[in-house]
Amino acid sequence: MFEKILYPTDFSDVAKNALDFIKTLENADKKEVIVLHVMDANIMDFSSRYAPELFMTIEEKIKENITKDLNRTKMSLTERGFTVRIRLERGVPFREILRVEQEEDVSVIVIGSHGVSNVKEMLLGSVSEKVIRKAKKPVLVIKR
Ligand code: ATP
Ligand code: MN
Repeated sequence: MFEKILYPTDFSDVAKNALDFIKTLENADKKEVIVLHVMDANIMDFSSRYAPELFMTIEEKIKENITKDLNRTKMSLTERGFTVRIRLERGVPFREILRVEQEEDVSVIVIGSHGVSNVKEMLLGSVSEKVIRKAKKPVLVIKR
């Protein structure tokens, strides 16, 4: 069940808990992890609308920094023997996660219960809730 793991991350503490869980899995050498970050199109469109002259520079810089974070995550997994690929997508986070689930035909999604917002009263974040509702494959939710 854990041969091909989709690990969507917003680099939050809870997403890092999910990463720590993946690292505890045995037979890392037989497992592939796809580390996915989705640049939220709504946030990006806001800055392109209200700061068009800065937008290209901002988007490039954001991409550069996120790619660094993705590569750091990748290295921490390859060190343990996992085969790792990174993906950086742009769009609505839950939709992109579900699209990659299909496209890559993963065996499981390992996701955090919450993310950067981490609102105390919420049982789940909105991204993890929609992924759990709509994913075709099993979703393993790692709690905060
Ligand atoms: P909300 O976003 O609804 O305010 P939240 O930030 O606390 O709440 P979610 O965004 O649902 O919670 O995050 C839950 C998990 O979903 C994260 O731990 C991470 O695994 C994944 N996730 C969230 N946002 C992204 C993203 N932009 N790209 C990839 N994975 C994400
Ligand atoms: Mn969030």
